[in-house]
Amino acid sequence: MKTIERKQGFDTLRIHAGYDPAQHNGSIQVPIYQTAAFDIGSPERADRLIKFEEVGLLYTRVGNPTLAALEARVAALDGAVAAVSVASGMAAVSYALLNAAEGGRVIAAAQIYGGTYDAYKKIYPNLGVNIDLVEDVNDLEAIQRLITEDTRAILIESISNPINVIADIQAIADLAHKNGLPLIVDNTLATPYLLNPFEYGADIVVYSATKALSGHGSVIGGLILESGKFNWLAGRHPHFEKKVFTFGERNVVETFPDFPFIGRVRTHYLALLGASLSPFDAYLILQGIETLTERVKKQSESAQKIAAFLSSHPKVSWVSYPTLDNSPYKELAKKYLPKGAGGLFSFGFKGDKEENYRFIKSLKLFSYHANLGDARSLVINSPRTTHHELSEQEQIQSGITADTIRLSIGLEDVEDLIADLKQAFDN
Ligand SMILES: *Cc1c(COP(=O)(O)O)cnc(C)c1O
Repeated sequence: MKTIERKQGFDTLRIHAGYDPAQHNGSIQVPIYQTAAFDIGSPERADRLIKFEEVGLLYTRVGNPTLAALEARVAALDGAVAAVSVASGMAAVSYALLNAAEGGRVIAAAQIYGGTYDAYKKIYPNLGVNIDLVEDVNDLEAIQRLITEDTRAILIESISNPINVIADIQAIADLAHKNGLPLIVDNTLATPYLLNPFEYGADIVVYSATKALSGHGSVIGGLILESGKFNWLAGRHPHFEKKVFTFGERNVVETFPDFPFIGRVRTHYLALLGASLSPFDAYLILQGIETLTERVKKQSESAQKIAAFLSSHPKVSWVSYPTLDNSPYKELAKKYLPKGAGGLFSFGFKGDKEENYRFIKSLKLFSYHANLGDARSLVINSPRTTHHELSEQEQIQSGITADTIRLSIGLEDVEDLIADLKQAFDN
């Protein structure tokens, strides 16, 4: 083995972290361990595995070498102590939220992914987890006012989908910690390349790997990461203090002292609710991550140019790209997104519904579908699709006006994308 002395950079880690070919017959690519279960060896070993005295592979629902390589790689990119992969971004958000807040309340941003918002209403309250919405995620006084003795976590997006609200992560994390609360950050739009929320005090980070992390529109997946710094035994999280029979009458922190949150997601949510990622899908995500830097860098550069083009177009009433001169998030973007603001943003289309539909139908390069972070450029009318679950009032609260059109900028030549938008406006 070569010894590596200096701390490796992001671009080295995204190719090499979490995988040693020598442990896998020299296979250069991470092999797809397409198996449901692993040979236990002996009843004595089974005894140790079952009691968590030995860490080992048993069953792919709770662990698999291909998934482990993905988890270790993404953990390395964000400097997390541990990560767990799950079957979708929604599974990542919901497992993280429930694991933090069982039996209590969560303060959550109103400007957020449509599916997450919909679950605030349809799912969590029925499971005993109540959501207190904060309309402006950066209104610290409003957050403080919402904190009660039952509050168990704060959930935000670093860059919100679809209107690019940039959260002041450091300020929100400080407030959370002063109140004994963990901060959960959905970092899907930023990706580890643009922003590492742990550097600003986030305790838990979640990703939809479906988006720019994998980057080719070919897979559904998600990840949850843990900083390892939050104290879950300070009184607000009784479910972390509870002695668990299968842990030998220890609590989850005693069982997994370095990564109690991920340990609990794995042994409770993955083991018992079961949304595990398939090894093949983990392989696709790993392959996507190998080119994360180049893709997100180009998407950010192209998005900036396209946002500038749209800002001066007569049929556009507003553009949400955070690095534009007139953006209310320009200063926060300077602090949190010095490498670029990503490939996704929205704009206001001037015109009636018929003209709006004609514009979308006239686009030839932009495909009309709901994903984002794809190599292909995408267009969607969010209020009627990705955020259709929200009532008119809720859409206003989330900052999604009826004229909103969302773009996800891909890897095509930016001149061709601008030409496509131009001809569609003129149509
Ligand atoms: C897409 C998305 C999700 C959900 O991820 P899936 O992989 O589609 O389940 C969650 N959060 C954000 C910010 C997203 O963009």
